[in-house]
Amino acid sequence: MQLGDLELHLLVTDHWKADGGLMFGVVPRVLWEKQKPPDGNNMIDCACVCLIARKNGRVIVCETGIGTKLSEKRARQVALREPEGMLHALRRLGITPDEVDAVVTTHLHWDHAGGLTRRDENGEVELTFKKARHFIQRSEWDFALEPDVRSRPSYITDDFTPLADGNDLVEFLDGDAEVLPGVQIRHVGGHTPGSQVLILRSGELACAVTGDLVCQTPHLRVPWNMAADIEPLRVFEQKARLLDEAEKHRWLVVLSHEPDQPAGYLEGGGRWRPEPRLT
Ligand SMILES: [Zn+2]
Repeated sequence: MQLGDLELHLLVTDHWKADGGLMFGVVPRVLWEKQKPPDGNNMIDCACVCLIARKNGRVIVCETGIGTKLSEKRARQVALREPEGMLHALRRLGITPDEVDAVVTTHLHWDHAGGLTRRDENGEVELTFKKARHFIQRSEWDFALEPDVRSRPSYITDDFTPLADGNDLVEFLDGDAEVLPGVQIRHVGGHTPGSQVLILRSGELACAVTGDLVCQTPHLRVPWNMAADIEPLRVFEQKARLLDEAEKHRWLVVLSHEPDQPAGYLEGGGRWRPEPRLT
């Protein structure tokens, strides 16, 4: 769809499943299961939602999903389907990976950064977007290299270290930044130390890619958050601020893991109105 001078394409790059308890933390199952019915293993349907934007002739990829490097065992554990989604979708848009100018991942967890790298025909890890600048918070990078004991399984170094090992493709950010005209990054932390939200602007119009600050539609309730968040109170504070602005200024909001109509607007009383042109 077109949002002012922004051309936006939503890509659902992966379909997979996550444990309901992981997704909803301390929220009782009797409340969340009405909205996200779990299967027999307590797993709920998830997607990895990515956005391709074109603005002033530049191509910006936001979020890269799980990618193709996941071990068979882990892929089975999370019931992963369609791992090649990102590159297929780019091809359909007539964009080659080398034509991507900027890549933003909201954080470096395996289900957001996996698509930054892939395996070549010899099984070696290579960069997916070899000519793009990659914007990552320095605090996220440092934490991903030395995570706390609970966060360790969420980071896979092959996803991101090749960007800096022998390459110079990362721009480390220390907080908020405008990385290209109208392409703003807001450091929110909370879910991980360096979690960030991408805000694309065209005049008065804007689109926000939330990352795991808001995973799915039930997470639009401020106190409904993931068990994996390292600083839940900061999540509540930053989420309330973002949702307030999004409602007031009619921002298009893109939710990171919602499998069913993940882009939409907030209306009075926190009601969600999906954007049918972006599904
Ligand atoms: Zn995450």
